[in-house]
Amino acid sequence: MLVALLLVLGALGWAGLAGLSSVRGSLEQIYQGNVTNQQTITNLSGRLDDAQELILRGWVTTGQRPRQQLAAELVSRVLPDVELGMAEVTRAAADNPAQASVAQDLTTRWAAFKALWAQGQWGSGPSGGRSAHATAVIAALDALNADANRIAKLENIEGAHRHQTALANERSSRRTMIIALVVGLLVSLAIVVWLTRTVLRRILAYSRFAGEIAEGEYDARLEPKDTDEIDRLARTLNQVAESRSRAEDYDRTQLDFSDSLQMMEDEREAQDLLRRHLERSIPDSVVTVFNRNNSADRLEAVTPVPADSPLRAALSGASPRDCLAVRAAKSHAEAPERELLLSCKLCSACEGRSTCTPLLVGGEVIGSVQVKHQAPLESDAMQRIQESVRQAAPGIANLRNLAIAQQRASTDALTGLPNRRALDDMLKRMVAESQRSTLPLTALMLDLDHFKRTNDQFGHSKGDELLAATGALIPHLLRASDFAARYGGEEFLILLPDTNLEGGRTIAEKIRNAIGDIQLAEEDIHLTVSIGVATRPDHAIDGEQLQRAADRALYTAKTNGRNRVEVASGTSELAPKPAAAQPANGVEHPGIVPRDARKASRQTLTAEMKPG
Ligand code: GH3
Ligand code: MG
Ligand code: MG
Repeated sequence: MLVALLLVLGALGWAGLAGLSSVRGSLEQIYQGNVTNQQTITNLSGRLDDAQELILRGWVTTGQRPRQQLAAELVSRVLPDVELGMAEVTRAAADNPAQASVAQDLTTRWAAFKALWAQGQWGSGPSGGRSAHATAVIAALDALNADANRIAKLENIEGAHRHQTALANERSSRRTMIIALVVGLLVSLAIVVWLTRTVLRRILAYSRFAGEIAEGEYDARLEPKDTDEIDRLARTLNQVAESRSRAEDYDRTQLDFSDSLQMMEDEREAQDLLRRHLERSIPDSVVTVFNRNNSADRLEAVTPVPADSPLRAALSGASPRDCLAVRAAKSHAEAPERELLLSCKLCSACEGRSTCTPLLVGGEVIGSVQVKHQAPLESDAMQRIQESVRQAAPGIANLRNLAIAQQRASTDALTGLPNRRALDDMLKRMVAESQRSTLPLTALMLDLDHFKRTNDQFGHSKGDELLAATGALIPHLLRASDFAARYGGEEFLILLPDTNLEGGRTIAEKIRNAIGDIQLAEEDIHLTVSIGVATRPDHAIDGEQLQRAADRALYTAKTNGRNRVEVASGTSELAPKPAAAQPANGVEHPGIVPRDARKASRQTLTAEMKPG
């Protein structure tokens, strides 16, 4: 539109300038033409006057000879000059019909004059009066002069006419110029108003918006309605805001994930965090984390798989090789429209699209993460999966190794039962729980009978086998909530939450019978066990008292003949605890009853039991 307006204004200006230039040219032409024509006519009049003067002189001259000289001058100089002047006037008058007509008359009259002059020249011309011939000659010359004057007048009229035309042109050009000027001013005004109302307003709004983007505020959006360059800029700014907002959101959620990953306490928690993070970030996705179990060469889902998912069937008996991402140690994607040379058993089990990424740690694949999604993944979703899996893999591996190390540190290698350290932790927890719930907690203290003798008789390795068999047997006789640990040597401690003294005695008898049934191949060993039973809060308040009470009951079982169960006597030790034996280095280990203290306790008990 602006271009069209400028073209119109340019055309108007050009027309005005062209008009003014034409007026100037016309005036110049009029002036030059008029001057030249007037000069030509004046020349002709002058020559006609010369001819008339010569003829008049001839008439007043009497001598033959002077007349002949005058005639010779007339014929040789004056008449040719007139002839030349006539031709010039005729040529000058040719472009004006009125002048051309008079010039034609002039030519005719000149021919008549020449014929008249040729008839008699001066003849007997009067010296005192004029003959008819002379009068006719003079009249012919006057007529010729009159024609020349008429042409001069016509020339003046034409000049005036051309002058008027040029002035009219000049007025018209001036009008055109004024119109162009007014239109130009109006258009300029309109452009200024338009710029102010639309362009300037938008530019100010868009520059404000660009400033907000630069300061990291991406919530607002522009609403461009036009298709011009400025609104194209607005759309680009919207795209910038959108992509920056997405990038910020991406960074924020990845940071959130990374921070949360640091807080995970075990492998399962970390795997589930990864699943929830990806499902939250990728619309309409279902994420499953697979674990590679190297020892059993199995691949299993460690995050929930819906009961109706076909993945369940595909996972039954699945090996790591069934997952192409695990097998190739690189991402694998499947989609209905993609025809693959090799298809993944787990990905192809479910309909739709899937992207599976291996969990890689130090070049070793410890599992994979399958993302089922409806729509094709955008590049940032793809990047998020890869980045999150890459980030989570070392954390998961560390937690797994930590769990293995913790397991090893708290497990007795020979029996496979938790060791004394694990027992102390569990005892504290179970006593606290018993306090909170006011439910009873029963402890069984087991000691294999005459085990030294058994060792001596069958060898230490057979003794080890018996200990291992006992350790393997006990858990099968307990509930999942119960806890059994190797207390040390040939002694075991079992904790039975929510179990009273009578319940504890029953279980102790069950265990005693089961241990009595232990047989070793090729050996006739008869293993027996003595068990002391004590209950919180009947016999103890804290864990240490509970152990001591069970130990005293055990001692009673030993002294009563072994291979039997005895329950603790008396009530809780509410009195202040006796000072525990101080270790040599002065460091106290709360919850651990030193062997010496236990022996002392048993001796005290023995003394108490002696009659008298
Ligand atoms: P009592 O019936 O009074 O308990 O007699 P005992 O022989 O079982 O008791 P004592 O405390 O005198 O001996 C415990 C024995 O248990 C001594 C030790 O050689 C044996 N023992 C302790 N730990 C192990 C072990 O890890 N393996 C083997 N084979 N024997 C062990
Ligand atoms: Mg013992
Ligand atoms: Mg023993």
